[in-house]
Amino acid sequence: MRASTTLTQNETVAGSAATLLFFWDYDTQWGADRSRSGGGAKNWGPLEFENTERLLDLHAEYDLPACFAVVGAAALPGKRPYHDPAQIRRIHNSGHEVASHSFQHEWLPGLNRRQLLESLRRSKDALEQCVGAAVVSFIPPFNQPFDYIKKGSFSLSERRECGSERTDLGRLCDALAETGYHFCRVSYRPLSQRIAERLVGRRLDQPSRHEKIAGVSCVRLNTPGGFNAPAIEMSNRCATAGGLVVVYGHPHSLLSGGAQDQSHLIPFLKRMVQLRREDRLKVKLPSDIARNGR
Ligand SMILES: [Zn+2]
Repeated sequence: MRASTTLTQNETVAGSAATLLFFWDYDTQWGADRSRSGGGAKNWGPLEFENTERLLDLHAEYDLPACFAVVGAAALPGKRPYHDPAQIRRIHNSGHEVASHSFQHEWLPGLNRRQLLESLRRSKDALEQCVGAAVVSFIPPFNQPFDYIKKGSFSLSERRECGSERTDLGRLCDALAETGYHFCRVSYRPLSQRIAERLVGRRLDQPSRHEKIAGVSCVRLNTPGGFNAPAIEMSNRCATAGGLVVVYGHPHSLLSGGAQDQSHLIPFLKRMVQLRREDRLKVKLPSDIARNGR
């Protein structure tokens, strides 16, 4: 189950054929311990592993490859809810991409360059040793840093909480290039977009395009997380207008009742299969994007 990397005539001519990038952020208890939402540490770590078994079945049933963004420490020997190297190997052997989600789900803006390089290297090494294949894609925990001055994206909280050594998006991509990564999922939002969103009271996402930051292939998230209406609508829009639709969820939220619940996931998978059958959408992995530039 590998995503097709064949270019269609549309892609060759316009570079805009609709493409789905599907991510699962596999946080495990490392992420639950570092939760930044109300109340601090959480206890959903075990669900990451239990629900991933169900997800592997679902993705096989719909023949749809995904990228699992795995906290590197989870690939080290040990027991759930912190470790399960055998499950991470199963993810890889099922045809999905295993990407790095940092070493211990660190909040990257708070790391200085030395700490950042260490997390990137340790995570890549642990995952590569585990699956026996190169790990080239990176998904930042908490979808941060937001701060990326070059595109007018400012995060006052990242600036307030962290010193001048903080990791902004440019520094992150610099460090990714230095440690051998080729792809990063990004979520900066220019100030002009945020002001417009505040005025209309909703997100104003666009079909995404591949872009390079410090030599690293980057694609912006353009759905709010989950598989309900915003994800379906962006997929339909890309199928019509071209561009990349980028969706993500967490295995531990599969039975949460929210936007990442399987009651939304299954209809979403069915719709993607339909769009692919109609040749209106391709499904790719981040490593394909990094290799082919779109
Ligand atoms: Zn995460």
